[in-house]
Amino acid sequence: MGRACVAVIGSGPAAFYATASLLRPDEPAVHVDMFERLPTPWGLVRSGVAPDHPKIKTVSSAFARTADHPRFRFFGNVEFGRDVTRTELLERYDAVVYAVGASSDNHLGIPGEDLPGSLAATDFVGWYNAHPDFRDLDPQLDVERVVVIGAGNVALDVARMLVTDPDELASTDVADHALGALRASSVREVLVVARRGPIQAAFTTIELRELGELTGVDAVLDPADLEVLDPEEVKAGGHVVRTNIETMHRLVDEHPPTGRPRRLVLMFARSPIEIRPGPDGRVGEVVLGCNDLVNEGGTVRARDNGKRETVSTGLVIRAVGYRGVALPDVPFDDRRGVIPNTGGRVIEGEREYVTGWIKRGPSGVIGTNRKDGQETAEAVLADLAGRADRTEEELTEILEWVRKRCPEVVEEHDWRAIDRHEIGAGEPAGRPRVKLCSIPELLAVAAAAREGSRPA
Ligand code: NAP
Repeated sequence: MGRACVAVIGSGPAAFYATASLLRPDEPAVHVDMFERLPTPWGLVRSGVAPDHPKIKTVSSAFARTADHPRFRFFGNVEFGRDVTRTELLERYDAVVYAVGASSDNHLGIPGEDLPGSLAATDFVGWYNAHPDFRDLDPQLDVERVVVIGAGNVALDVARMLVTDPDELASTDVADHALGALRASSVREVLVVARRGPIQAAFTTIELRELGELTGVDAVLDPADLEVLDPEEVKAGGHVVRTNIETMHRLVDEHPPTGRPRRLVLMFARSPIEIRPGPDGRVGEVVLGCNDLVNEGGTVRARDNGKRETVSTGLVIRAVGYRGVALPDVPFDDRRGVIPNTGGRVIEGEREYVTGWIKRGPSGVIGTNRKDGQETAEAVLADLAGRADRTEEELTEILEWVRKRCPEVVEEHDWRAIDRHEIGAGEPAGRPRVKLCSIPELLAVAAAAREGSRPA
């Protein structure tokens, strides 16, 4: 039986959800090859989700089931644009689906942002999650206070990681280098700075609730920030806003600060204006501008009211959103950081599709990608319209081409060996896994495993 061949670029949740839809039982002719720059799959499930959120990571077992499919192949350690090009893939595949996420971050655009000690949350998250690109980040944690800019879940993840008792993190899959640094950390206070108010914050309720449950941590917010809220506005904000505000009230009422060893402070209506160096040339202080919240045509905006506060700190982490990055030769909307598309079909593309954050922008939780992936897969399947004329020989030729192009390609069998290795390394300490943090280490385990045993 002939096959229709689809290449999926990226291996995070968006890639796997789209793949699962492409390989659904009533489409017996579709074959999927997944290309990933790293030797490991799962994208942000591996390198984004906080180590103390193991439940969220269990979604990877569904991805592993998809990867078990007989019409699926994983090609890790293969970089789009470097090892294989758009033209080459379009020559070999009936459709190409971009699911590369949003690997960069938004900037604040303020003086001092590039000083040593001013970091992007995307880098810091990659560092504690053992992403090979960030293992050498070496954030300076010999400081008492850290300022985290932004009021989203990434800001809360970062803040929580900085104040959580390292003994609790020791039973997670946090990178070993990060655990060591967090054990030696001098951080006693983390300020999470939101430019707008509690109603506009992008946190989700579960993440807020956790703040009151952290051992040895006072989670603090100014009750005045809640007292000024208009109950009608809270009500109109919908379910998440209502439960967020209830949770913040509970933090104030039921978890008053008692001088615990570490503090996590939520500050509202303040924007960073300038990051200033200290005597050592690193970050020394942040100037915050106070904001009035003004309703402009139904949108509440932060307007600088001229008041200033200066906060001393040695580390500033901006968590103001991820940003998509252009792929070589692929259409890109630089303003929005996405590949322009209609319902998943790339505008001005040639049998090309898109799913996940690079399709719709960096918002939503992991599960949001399921529906998104289904929509894209529907578009692919409709356009393939039963086309299935690739032979087994052609599939083998593609495999040989990839292996030739990238001799250290990590195939599914090799990744499973890495997976077993990491899980085995975690067992003695009761950890879910100990992640390998560098590409040579990962490739060495893959190479050892496939010696003479790589399936044809
Ligand atoms: P986000 O939810 O979009 O939050 C970004 C925050 O940055 C917003 O509070 C935004 O404020 C603020 N911001 C943007 N530009 C700013 C500036 N120039 N100055 C000050 N503040 C600025 O993004 P995220 O936290 O990166 O999260 C991305 C997605 O991943 C979200 O959908 C999130 O829920 C999800 N996520 C989920 C989990 C989880 O489920 N546990 C964990 C991590 C991430 P404004 O609203 O005022 O623009």
